[in-house]
Amino acid sequence: MAYKAVIGLEFHCEMKSHTKVFSPSINGYSKLANEYVSPIDMAFPGTLPVVNKTCVRKAIEMAMILNCKIPEYMEFDRKNYFYPDLPKGYQITQFYNPVGVNGKITIDVNGKEKEVLIHDIHLEEDAASLDHYYNTSTIDYNRAGVPLLELVTEPCLHSADEALAFLEHVRSIYQYTDISECDTKKGQIRADVNVSIMEEDATEFGTKVEVKNVNSFDAIRQTIEYEIKRQSKLKDEGRYDEVVQETRRWDDESCTTIHMRSKADAIDYKYFREPNLPRFKITEELKEDIRKSIPELAYERREKYINKYGLSEYDAGVLVKSKKVSDYFEECLHLGTDAKSACNWITTRVLAEVNKSEDTTIDDVFVRPNMIYELVKLIEDKKITNNQGKEVFIHMLEDHLTPKEIVKKYDMEIIEDEGLIDSLVSEVINENSQAIEDYHNGRTNMLDYMVGQVMKKSKGKANPVEAKQKLLEKIK
Ligand code: ADP
Ligand code: MG
Repeated sequence: MAYKAVIGLEFHCEMKSHTKVFSPSINGYSKLANEYVSPIDMAFPGTLPVVNKTCVRKAIEMAMILNCKIPEYMEFDRKNYFYPDLPKGYQITQFYNPVGVNGKITIDVNGKEKEVLIHDIHLEEDAASLDHYYNTSTIDYNRAGVPLLELVTEPCLHSADEALAFLEHVRSIYQYTDISECDTKKGQIRADVNVSIMEEDATEFGTKVEVKNVNSFDAIRQTIEYEIKRQSKLKDEGRYDEVVQETRRWDDESCTTIHMRSKADAIDYKYFREPNLPRFKITEELKEDIRKSIPELAYERREKYINKYGLSEYDAGVLVKSKKVSDYFEECLHLGTDAKSACNWITTRVLAEVNKSEDTTIDDVFVRPNMIYELVKLIEDKKITNNQGKEVFIHMLEDHLTPKEIVKKYDMEIIEDEGLIDSLVSEVINENSQAIEDYHNGRTNMLDYMVGQVMKKSKGKANPVEAKQKLLEKIK
C-alpha cells in the first residue's frame, strides 16, 4: 500500500566565528588535538561563560531570514546530562525562549513552490569529540564550545526531495550570509531526521522514528528513503506493534538504520535557565542594525540575473548555486563585462575547470574576472574571433598569461589590413578555378571551402565574415 510520509528535521550547523560561543579560544580546525581549549571549555571550577556577540548577531540574522518571531530577550538554558564529551555535565542551549520561533520560508522543489514551517531556531554549543580505539578512547576538546545553530522544522515535509530541497536552500543562506560554510567534510552539519508514515486519508500522524546525527546530505536522503520503506513494510505485514517511537542511527556500511533506544529510555534533561549568563534585551536598534546587514541571497540574485540581465532560469540557477561562483560573476559585471557573455564563459569554460577535481573551487582557477572582461572585450572589439577566444582561454590556463599577452604571444590578432585580405582572396581564387566553376553550377558549399582556404592562409587571423563577403564580390 502507498503511504504518505511525514518528515521533520532538526538541522545542526557549526557557525563561523573567530572564537567559541562562550569562551575566548579559537573556533577552528586543528589536526592537533586539544589545541584550541580554554579553562572555560574544560569546565574548570570558578570559570564563567561570556556570550560571543558575533554569534548572537548571526543567530538573530538567521531567525530574521527565516521570518521567525524574535523574542524580547536573549536567554540561555542548561540541558543536563552526563557524557565524557561534555565536561560541564550540561550543554548551554536555548530551550524555553529560542532566538527565533514560528518561522516560514518558501523553497523550490523541482520547479514547484513549497512553504516550509520553522518551529524554532536556537543557539547552542557543540560538545567535544571522542575517538574510540581498541580498548581506549580519547577526548579532543577543540570542538567543545564551538557555536551551533539548530533549526527545527515542523513535520511539514513529505518526501526526500522536499527535505533535500529545504536543506540545500538553508545551506545556501548560511553560505551567502557567511554564517557557516556548511562543509560536510569538516563535520559542520548534522541532522536528526524524524520520519513517520500515515495512510493517505488518515487525519492523524503516524508514530515517528528519530534517526540521530546523520552527517551528510546523501545520508539524509538515504535515511528518509530507507525509513519510509522499512515502516511501510512493517505496516503492510500487519506488524503494527513494531512501528514504535524510537531513536535509531544511520549505518553507512549496511545502508540501514539501526535501533539505539526506545521512548521509554528517553532522557530527562531537567532544563533550567542558565544562571551564569544574564539575559539581555534584543533592542529595536540592534534588530534594525542586523536587518540592514543582511546581504543579497541566492534567490534574490537569481531573480536579478533573470529579470535584469535576461539570463535563462537554468543559467541563473547554475551561477547562484555556489556563492563563490556568483561572486565571481558579480565581479565580472562590476568590471563592465556584458552579462550574457560573462555567463557563457563561466558556465562553460570556467566551471569545467572547477569540476575537473573535487577539491578545486573557482578561486583556484587562474582565469580571474578581470581576464574574462579583457577576453570578452577583445571579441567585442573584433580583435579576435569567437573561436580564437576559446583558444585564448586554453592558452591562458596553460601559460598563466592574460588574454592580451596570449594574443600577442601567439600572434592571433585579426588582420585588419584590407589589402592583405584582398590579396589572400585573390590567391585563393586563382588556385581554385574548378571550385569556382562547381560553385556556379550549384555546389554552394564550395564557397565555405574557399573561405576555409583564406582562413588557412591567414593562420586563422582573417575575419571569416569579411573573407566570405570579398570572395562573393569577386566570383559573382
Ligand atoms: P519530541 O517531543 O520527540 O522532541 P517534537 O514534537 O519536539 O518531538 O518534534 C521533534 C521533531 O520531530 C521536529 O522536527 C518535528 O517536526 C518532528 N516530528 C514531530 N512529529 C512528527 C511525526 N509524526 N512525523 C515526523 N516528524 C515528526
Ligand atoms: Mg539541540
